[in-house]
Amino acid sequence: MRLRSIIGKRWALIACAAALCVLLTAGFLLFSSPASAGERAQAAAQGLNSYAFDLIFRPEERTLAVTMTLDYTNETGDPLEQLALRTWVGAYQSEETSPAAIDALYDACYPEGFSPGGIDLEGVWWNDTPADHAYTDPAGTMLRVKIPALSPGEGGRLLLRCTLTIPECCHRFGHAGSSWQFGNALPILAVYENGDWRSDAYSPIGDPFVSACANYAVTLTAPAGYQCAATGSQRAETLADGRARFIMDAPACRDFAFALSDAWESASQKVNGIAVTAYAPTREGAKRAARDAAQALKTYGRLYGDYAWNAYTLCAVDFPFGGMEYPGLAFIGQSNFAEDWADTLELVIAHETAHQWFYALVGSDQALQPWQDEALSEYAMLCYVLDRYGRNAYDNLVITRVNAPMQERIRQAVTPGTPITDFASLDVYSTVVYGRGAAFLLAVEELTGKLDAFLRAYCDTYAFQLASREDFTALLNRITGEDLLPLMTDYLDTLMQ
Ligand SMILES: [Zn+2]
Repeated sequence: MRLRSIIGKRWALIACAAALCVLLTAGFLLFSSPASAGERAQAAAQGLNSYAFDLIFRPEERTLAVTMTLDYTNETGDPLEQLALRTWVGAYQSEETSPAAIDALYDACYPEGFSPGGIDLEGVWWNDTPADHAYTDPAGTMLRVKIPALSPGEGGRLLLRCTLTIPECCHRFGHAGSSWQFGNALPILAVYENGDWRSDAYSPIGDPFVSACANYAVTLTAPAGYQCAATGSQRAETLADGRARFIMDAPACRDFAFALSDAWESASQKVNGIAVTAYAPTREGAKRAARDAAQALKTYGRLYGDYAWNAYTLCAVDFPFGGMEYPGLAFIGQSNFAEDWADTLELVIAHETAHQWFYALVGSDQALQPWQDEALSEYAMLCYVLDRYGRNAYDNLVITRVNAPMQERIRQAVTPGTPITDFASLDVYSTVVYGRGAAFLLAVEELTGKLDAFLRAYCDTYAFQLASREDFTALLNRITGEDLLPLMTDYLDTLMQ
């Protein structure tokens, strides 16, 4: 995410898969004619944990009733006596904990003053028995649930009922203008590593979300007249009482997000078998967004391997960022749809769509190594521009998006490899993680000429997994045949004078 204020109208200042053909005889993978859309995700879905959500949206009450059923198998390798869920919306309860309440965001996110949101828990059950549970952080984003000892390989069913209160807030979660945004709103399993569940704070800077792929089956009931933009594929029906029911299926997804509005126009098109749908304030804006997204999917599919799912959706939301990525879905800041912001919109869509490979498909540690998805998406966006508009446009963009950040004077002691919680400013975060992170990638390309080959192998090797920085480094060295660790340390961990 990037602040809208630093996203200019000009190219320069803008923010934030071909199918696998197995060449068995050679013993390695090449990319060739596409499999049918979504096949990769369907195949990856086998054996993953599965969520079923039943959701009832009541805008007149500003609530979302949530029933979550999680069929969980302990694949951690450790015996477990508790599970941990991230309930990120808990942070919206107060000004002290809300990620939207820092000075730099407050006026843009709370134009009418602070509005509390959050989660009201009705109960948690494990295998139909009430389970003890408690929040273990002041923000109420880390819910630990006691369960009877669960050996590796064993499983059970976690049931959770709660009601979310939706704040008046222009952020990932909130009601803003005519849209209702549910980004990182549904409870989700924390990631288990090194003997415990991750408990990263909801940092207002960067995206602190780290999660494993799972299958989502979601049913959402909303008043008549609402449209739903969501992760996964969707069908809609009308209930006898006139309300709309949306039924979503999202295999092998790292998260599930959605937004609702009764004022969007929509446009759809197909590319490589993928259903691309855009929701925007105007029909013209929706058409433009769908067209740009289709173009980006084509470029990245060719460069990095097939898009993994069968649907991709964009929607305009009211928040002070360029965009925010979710699996199969991107929130796009509404201001980008202004008539004379078409260039900006295209670059935002190119960046967010790249996250479908560098975040949604290959996950990484967004809290501790934020460059690993942001710089890669920024680099991919440059490749999109080269592909579509040629060398001059690419060179101009490199000057402003990469060279300028390298020359900027930064007073804080931060590098692209700095954890997000150590950044004090959104602007500095963008300059360092996006701009200087992308400079690292351009340096790799200049030195080896093998960056795209590496990125394709990276997407293939770590599809539907979390790739650590060490995984990244080892594969990069293997594909390029060079020891690039010193270069990485120089660009990602060394303070510039
Ligand atoms: Zn991004």
